[in-house]
Amino acid sequence: MENICSNLELQNFHEDLTELGISLSEEQTGQFVRYYELLTEWNSFMNLTAITEFSEVLKKHFIDSLSIIKEFPELKNQEIRMIDIGTGAGFPGIPIKIAFPQIKVTLLDSLQKRLRFLEKVVEELELNDVELIHGRAEDYARLPEKRETYDFCVSRAVANLSTLSELCMPYVKTGGIFISYKSEKITEEADAAQNAIRLLGGKIYRQTGFYLPNSDIYRNLFQIKKIKRTPEKYPRKAGIPSKQPL
Ligand code: SAM
Repeated sequence: MENICSNLELQNFHEDLTELGISLSEEQTGQFVRYYELLTEWNSFMNLTAITEFSEVLKKHFIDSLSIIKEFPELKNQEIRMIDIGTGAGFPGIPIKIAFPQIKVTLLDSLQKRLRFLEKVVEELELNDVELIHGRAEDYARLPEKRETYDFCVSRAVANLSTLSELCMPYVKTGGIFISYKSEKITEEADAAQNAIRLLGGKIYRQTGFYLPNSDIYRNLFQIKKIKRTPEKYPRKAGIPSKQPL
């Protein structure tokens, strides 16, 4: 693995991190390398990611996940509760947890095999305060211990903003923030989601676009603030938010 995870690539990774204002201990760097190894190992027998080159995983999965810090520097040291909806192989939740270990992270996905992979990652990297949930976002949002209990909800590459708002907003407590990782500035999608966001108790806070460090990869973070409680009737039954967006 040593030649795959070359020092030069790790050096570039640290330069990118410095640009984001993040410094990692040796132990944390080791956790990222081990995460990469597990990702590629398991990817050989289950579908986790199309990106497998070390340098690309570092930039497009790890740095991308961590780019949220540009908008929310408080994630560095505050003991917040965060949920990642449709986490897949752990993005953005696992990189955030490795870099900012004081955050209590819940990772939720409806695919059982991805949860098995995440169990292995959490065990091998010895991550504390990570809760893994196998299930539909629509179902877990009904549990009182999950509903409106998170300071931050994050989600990357799961659904359009209307659908995603219905999946995510019920988890966020009033005053909290839902952040959707998008690859470009969204105007039409945001317009189409205005009604859904309002019905769910949210208000568009802002969207911020930037290039990932030392790259031409554009990232847009779309942020919605929860200003009042989500009515009980949302989210609707599993599958409805994507078939009939609000
Ligand atoms: N967030 C990861 C990333 O950026 O690499 C994974 C993205 S993958 C394209 C979308 C994931 O969302 C899949 O793992 C899928 O199982 C999950 N997903 C889609 N709808 C969901 C729902 N309603 N509840 C829970 N998970 C869902």
